[in-house]
Amino acid sequence: MKKIELVDCVKFVGKEIDVYGWVESKRDHKKIVFLDLRDRSGIVQVVCDEKAKNISPEDVIHIKGIVKKRPQHLINKKIKTGEIEIEAKEIKILSRSNPIPIPIDTDGYEIKEDLRLKYRYIDIRRKRMIKNLRLRFEAMMFIRNYLHQKGFIEVETPILTKTTPEGARDFLVPSRLQKGKFYALPQSPQQYKQLLMVGGIEKYFQITRCFRDEDPRKDRVYGEFTQLDMEMSFVTQNDIINLTEGLITELVKNIFPNKHFTQTPWPKITHKEAVKKYHSDKPDLRKNKNDKDELAFAWIIDFPLFVEQNEEDFFYGSGRAKFAPSHHMFTAPHPDDIPLLSKNPMKVRGLQHDLVLNGFEVAGGSIRIHQGEIQEKVFDLIGFSKKQKQEFNHMLEAFTYGVPPHGGIASGIDRLLMALLGEKSVREVVAFPASSGGRTAVMDAPSEATKEQLDELGIKVVK
Ligand code: ASP
Repeated sequence: MKKIELVDCVKFVGKEIDVYGWVESKRDHKKIVFLDLRDRSGIVQVVCDEKAKNISPEDVIHIKGIVKKRPQHLINKKIKTGEIEIEAKEIKILSRSNPIPIPIDTDGYEIKEDLRLKYRYIDIRRKRMIKNLRLRFEAMMFIRNYLHQKGFIEVETPILTKTTPEGARDFLVPSRLQKGKFYALPQSPQQYKQLLMVGGIEKYFQITRCFRDEDPRKDRVYGEFTQLDMEMSFVTQNDIINLTEGLITELVKNIFPNKHFTQTPWPKITHKEAVKKYHSDKPDLRKNKNDKDELAFAWIIDFPLFVEQNEEDFFYGSGRAKFAPSHHMFTAPHPDDIPLLSKNPMKVRGLQHDLVLNGFEVAGGSIRIHQGEIQEKVFDLIGFSKKQKQEFNHMLEAFTYGVPPHGGIASGIDRLLMALLGEKSVREVVAFPASSGGRTAVMDAPSEATKEQLDELGIKVVK
């Protein structure tokens, strides 16, 4: 690619170059017209003659011109290219822009979010959004390299699959080949990653999309989100905690160097203590809540394995059982508490670990059950019927063929980045998030299917 990033124009003083970008603004001084030309890297000033009069903001243009040093008194310290300007020789309009429906020279918080999402492709031109997306990518690259160096393998798992409950409703996808049957989009790769441990992968990770049909909130994107998912064999809970803490610490140091930790190593707080002392299982432990660069990470451990099942736990069991998993149904009970599974399930501790940051849960995981009998016992306790249990037969069967003890963790990348970037909503770190009402950005899904599509699937919509 020959295109020069506009911030690099400073390297070409005295030379003729071609530059491309959007017109950020135009200042018309009769015989001379100044354009601020913008690309993803920044802005450069272009000096044109009257030929530029018909150019409008957000037009995409190509300029051939000479890079000149500005006289001392005209240097603009506010921009990276402030010591130079481009004297245009030729101007070509590549694409005209109508007046844009939302301003992009502000941080954008003042604009109605629905409008920003409808015109997300314009909203993304905003400096803050480009920066957020760039840092998101840098973070992903860092994570992949770090885990690669630690011997992890990234393995992709199916999106069209069977239910993997994580406490939300499933999104269903009808099958055309087997009319009347449905795939579920994964709420997480939980079962697949455990099956990968049975498969001998030992150190798995995946930066993956998870799908949960749950009510929208500020700290979650509706519908889908990105998870850093990890699973390891032959590990203790501390191994998982140390690996995650090392990874996130280095991530912060390398990609978000302005941030500082309230405390290192991160404190470990038992669930009991958290609830007693902070009345929350995701306490905000910052010393100064006004300091936007303070990061208070803490581990919460020793959760009870079960919580009381309430009506919202419709997806577990028949609704008649008293117990719902505190984390999920694959979490191992504390080995000392196994006898209590029969006697007093609510007293059983689970080998669950959650990571909180500034009052948000940013990761959670556990050591898993790897014994068929215990897994079945947990299914019974959460009220699974015989039929429901059968849906998980593949797990029970897999456990009969030599399964290593294993455990893992997953971190919601969107929420973690939201906290690291100091953003107030996860939607600020996602290119095309769904609106809080569950409509997708720009494309406005969900939409109706045609009669032909429905017929092919054997589906009738009841109005
Ligand atoms: N699958 C879990 C989740 O999505 C994380 C884990 O247990 O590793 O919360």
